[in-house]
Amino acid sequence: MRITGNMVNYYFVCKRKLWLFQHEIVFEQTNKKVQLGSILDQTSYENKGKHHVEIDNLINVDMIQNWQVVHEIKKSNAIEPAAIWQLKYYLYYLRKKGIKISKGLLDYPLLKKCIDVDYTEEDQKKMEEYLEDIKKICAASKPPKPKLKSICKSCAFYEYCFS
Ligand code: SF4
Repeated sequence: MRITGNMVNYYFVCKRKLWLFQHEIVFEQTNKKVQLGSILDQTSYENKGKHHVEIDNLINVDMIQNWQVVHEIKKSNAIEPAAIWQLKYYLYYLRKKGIKISKGLLDYPLLKKCIDVDYTEEDQKKMEEYLEDIKKICAASKPPKPKLKSICKSCAFYEYCFS
């Protein structure tokens, strides 16, 4: 199974969302938050490095500086563990390919904040476990049951899950 950064993010946000996304049950995303994220992506770090680097038609990195620092640009810091592990997955994936990435940076341009994200041996072990778990969830014949969380109301699947 090919695992994307979004799938790792959804694993931490909501395992049901992960399953729905992986089974290509999608709803059109036209809300302002999504549009804002895309505009921030395009304008915040114009001259610092390579933008939107796609690797193996699978991993889509917001920006790479000198093939050493990977940036993931976020519009808020509301769901930090998901963003951190999405970025750690990029570090994991690129290192597996022999690219010597030294660290990751989570950029929050609206907050004028930048968080260093290291990658340790412990992270490596946890990442392998998370990836196995992601595969198990996605291979299941049914999605996990919906559980109401604070983020549900802004999720594209809200009506699908709770009506
Ligand atoms: S609405 Fe809530 S339970 Fe349903 S997929 Fe979205 S986050 Fe998950």
